[in-house]
Amino acid sequence: MAQEKRKFGFETRMLHAGHIPDPVTGARAVPIYQTTSYVFEDTDKAAQLFELKQYGNIYTRINNPTTATFEERIASLENATGAVATASGMAAQMTTMMTLLEPGDEILSSAHLYGGTVTQFTHTFRKLGITVHFVDPTNIDDWAAAITPKTRALYGETIGNPKGSILDIEALADLAHAHKMPLIVDSTFATPYLCRPIDWGADLVVHSATKFLGGHGNSIAGVLLDSGKFDFSSYATIANPDPAYHGLKFYETFGHYGFLMKARAVTVRDTGAALSPFNAFLLIQGLETLSLRMERHVQNAQAIAQFLYDHPKVDWVAYAGLADNPYHALAQKYTPKGPGAIFTFGIKASNPRAAGKEFIESLHLFSHLANVGDARSLVIHPASTTHQQLSDEELAAGGVDAGMIRLSIGLETLEDLLWDLDQALQATSA
Ligand code: PLP
Repeated sequence: MAQEKRKFGFETRMLHAGHIPDPVTGARAVPIYQTTSYVFEDTDKAAQLFELKQYGNIYTRINNPTTATFEERIASLENATGAVATASGMAAQMTTMMTLLEPGDEILSSAHLYGGTVTQFTHTFRKLGITVHFVDPTNIDDWAAAITPKTRALYGETIGNPKGSILDIEALADLAHAHKMPLIVDSTFATPYLCRPIDWGADLVVHSATKFLGGHGNSIAGVLLDSGKFDFSSYATIANPDPAYHGLKFYETFGHYGFLMKARAVTVRDTGAALSPFNAFLLIQGLETLSLRMERHVQNAQAIAQFLYDHPKVDWVAYAGLADNPYHALAQKYTPKGPGAIFTFGIKASNPRAAGKEFIESLHLFSHLANVGDARSLVIHPASTTHQQLSDEELAAGGVDAGMIRLSIGLETLEDLLWDLDQALQATSA
């Protein structure tokens, strides 16, 4: 087969997509272009770049060659038409919504979301005149019933935080398209190695690249991706003349690339939510080993979930890889290699809040911190940290059990992780 016709495999694209060796120096690794700006060839060329008549580097708040490699690589892995990298996962969500919506618009979202996203959607979006309604994601009829004439997008997480629920992406994409709106999926917990939402009909995908994509707990980053298939002609901010860009009609001018052009040339330009080239470099290093890391993450997670499930001191385990989990069938459809490496469990105890605290303090290998998706194993007890100000009743209303422990399973030797969990459980009072 001729080389140009070959569709390279996932692992090959993890290592090569978006980059050829540097033509001047021959550098094989992607260089870090740690520059704010780029010298123009002449004044005519400069004018063309500013008018978006020619694509090229202007200023690192808008584009950068190192960041461009990260964007092209993740777009290739997600089967997207392109990507725009951002300073954080929260910035990717903000960029997506500010590019898509007008004041008065509404979003219908799954309620099974990262807590920070719920806060951003509820309070910060309200200041922009955007209202978000939340729905229990498990029943598609509940979604359909909650759509109003103002709903402009459906939103959910591939693997929902913290319950580990699996989103029925295909059914939601059909529902969204029947109402001529896009489905936006946060696929942070899955990564494109475990699930590619665009293959199931999602239109826009966002990630906190801070987690498994970077994979080493060293950089805050985000990215938004477009399938290139959604017809944005009824979305005024993308289809109508844009006063923020001398009347340019992004959708008419750039077609399937219009949403991303607007996101980059207007939203990121004006919010300043750009990724630093150094962090883009670290993310590229992460992507190069994504499949190997994710394979080990899910292998360790499955074994640990089963170990805890069988442990006499454990009350419950919420991992969709377990056969009796309510999301097991959806996990087999959407994440057949394994439903991620982040899950929660509860300890059997008369005082679950105190038991959770005691358990965390007895661990040696797991790091107690507020992050997930690191190469190292992580743990948090929401009732004594992120949710400590809430009563047991308030915790229950928010879906957080007082004894709930969240684990993010890393790449350490499995037997060492099992040893650490077991000794901490033994040290915890019933
Ligand atoms: N989405 C999910 C599922 C997350 O877990 C997080 C952070 O924990 C975010 C988005 C926000 O990402 P960031 O912390 O990179 O802004």
